[in-house]
Amino acid sequence: MTGLHEPLRERLLAITRQLSVLGLNRGTAGNVSVRDSDSFLVTPSGMTVEAMTPHHMVQMDFDGKHHGSYEPSSEWRFHRDILASRKEIGAVIHTHSMFATTIACLRHDVPPLHYMMALVGGTHIRCASYALFGSQELSDGALAALHERKACLLANHGMIALGRDLEDALAVAVEVETLCEQYWRTLQVGGPVLLSEQEMSEAMERFKTYGSWKGK
Ligand code: 13P
Ligand code: ZN
Repeated sequence: MTGLHEPLRERLLAITRQLSVLGLNRGTAGNVSVRDSDSFLVTPSGMTVEAMTPHHMVQMDFDGKHHGSYEPSSEWRFHRDILASRKEIGAVIHTHSMFATTIACLRHDVPPLHYMMALVGGTHIRCASYALFGSQELSDGALAALHERKACLLANHGMIALGRDLEDALAVAVEVETLCEQYWRTLQVGGPVLLSEQEMSEAMERFKTYGSWKGK
């Protein structure tokens, strides 16, 4: 696969590298996908980001068929299922980042401890129930936990962050990790004081116009 898909392959690799630079993924943990009209590109399975080149990014159809000689991420099912069912979403990031994974190992939802929770689209981040990595069961649970949200935790595993494009998904992933770190830190000293439904809905309303200069 060369030519037409090259720039998107490079952008997918750049965001995958960024996750490593930011310390959100290490080794072969995590994976990233991006919509490419009626197909999508996903990172290869079991490869460190240092070894990846644009050529290793795997093109997949929504029926689960992949092109080229590299194996797609073992989590291609949830990448496929999210991109197929959430038309407003253009990119999916999965990490094993330290704080999100710590909270996921406790199997806690992340409660409304900070107004930035509004960025993920609701009052809390749900934790999907445990299922084997790469399984359809994991994908089904993730999809349910992502209902009307841009992120969820995966029990004893990590997190998923969604965005309208790769940059937006990265911003969501960074924010989820920050919220999980804040939650973890407050848990050390008795737990957070939570925002009310009213305070959260005011923050969500405010976010509708926050940063709107970007679209101008
Ligand atoms: P892949 O290398 O197959 O993408 O797997 C990494 C991972 O995080 C599995 O959940
Ligand atoms: Zn994983």
